[in-house]
Amino acid sequence: MTVSMCKYPPGKSSGIAGEQTIEHISRNCDECGRCLGECAFLQRHGTPGRIAGRYLAGSADLLPAAFSCSLCGLCEERCPQDLPMAGMFLELRRRAVREGRGRFKEHLPLLWFEALGGSALLAGYFLPAGCTTVFFPGCALPGIRPHETYRLFRLLQKRIPKLGLVFDCCSKPSHDLGLENRFKEKFSKIMMVMQDRGVKKIITACPSCLQIFRRYGEDLETEVVYTLLAEYEFGRQDSVGLRYTLHDPCTVRFDPDIHRAVRQLIGSIGLPFTEMAHNRATTFCCGEGGAAICLNGGRDLGWRGKRLAEAGDQSLVTYCAGCTSTLASGHTYHLFDLLLASPGRYERAPKAVKPPFTYLNRLYLKLKMKVLYLLGRW
Ligand code: SF4
Ligand code: SF4
Repeated sequence: MTVSMCKYPPGKSSGIAGEQTIEHISRNCDECGRCLGECAFLQRHGTPGRIAGRYLAGSADLLPAAFSCSLCGLCEERCPQDLPMAGMFLELRRRAVREGRGRFKEHLPLLWFEALGGSALLAGYFLPAGCTTVFFPGCALPGIRPHETYRLFRLLQKRIPKLGLVFDCCSKPSHDLGLENRFKEKFSKIMMVMQDRGVKKIITACPSCLQIFRRYGEDLETEVVYTLLAEYEFGRQDSVGLRYTLHDPCTVRFDPDIHRAVRQLIGSIGLPFTEMAHNRATTFCCGEGGAAICLNGGRDLGWRGKRLAEAGDQSLVTYCAGCTSTLASGHTYHLFDLLLASPGRYERAPKAVKPPFTYLNRLYLKLKMKVLYLLGRW
């Protein structure tokens, strides 16, 4: 199966293919500066139009710098011209890789994480006879919340009895690091299994996996679990005196259906919550986006600190396992902690789960599902 690489980026900038973004921005950015205000990366390097112009004039120093942009799309939201900046910085990363200037030793742990996610040790395909829909929890959620991942699968199964389950990595790290061939090779293997086994729909738990399957999943129907769960009934939780606020992952900043569904879910369990100043389409990146956090130049952009400062002393809820880990601060919850918990169980936010326990959790969950599958207790 061949994976097309020209579908990035989605949302406001969906009409512009990656290859053309640099020229497009160079021609159409009028230097108004509206995108600069909240992005330390642009404040350091100049307006997107100026960056594109410098690159087209032959300056190659921006190729490595592009790995410090978190590809978060906030600048696209601010831009009156609807210019596709995240697409341009991804395209600069791809060109850096092609020219041999895009490999950093700091990215190796992330690439190992990805490789392990797709390895025989941690990957698993459980596709019962007649299965046309699969749940794809991604790499991060089973690592930090294996029990909640299991409960979520069982919950979905009540409405979709032949639901399959796939443990694998969607290969977003390779994608975002501009490693086109590696991404194509890994992602097309997943797609081949889906096509061979007649899978028509994929339900993701992770907004990043959703983004990848939407862009490259060809005819596969995609849905994130939150829009499905909005139809379920959950027990009301005792807020135990806590006040909550919500962090929207930047990967779904242009997806109002998901924003609505998540707020509906929080409202349905009765938790008092207030919006952060930057929410929905104007949300900040948690700091992990685009793997920018791996490099010093991306780590010091201050996204994480700004997000935690907006949360203040409120408990912070998010619905991306990667954001949950990056923003862990002693009062950070994944939405599933609150939805799937016994009442009052999470008076304190769960502790951050780190390697090697994330890998052990994934292995435990895969083996548990394998045993249940082999015993016919699916
Ligand atoms: S970090 Fe986000 S806001 Fe800044 S240039 Fe990159 S995509 Fe735009
Ligand atoms: S907001 Fe858009 S037009 Fe204005 S400087 Fe930024 S990219 Fe250019």
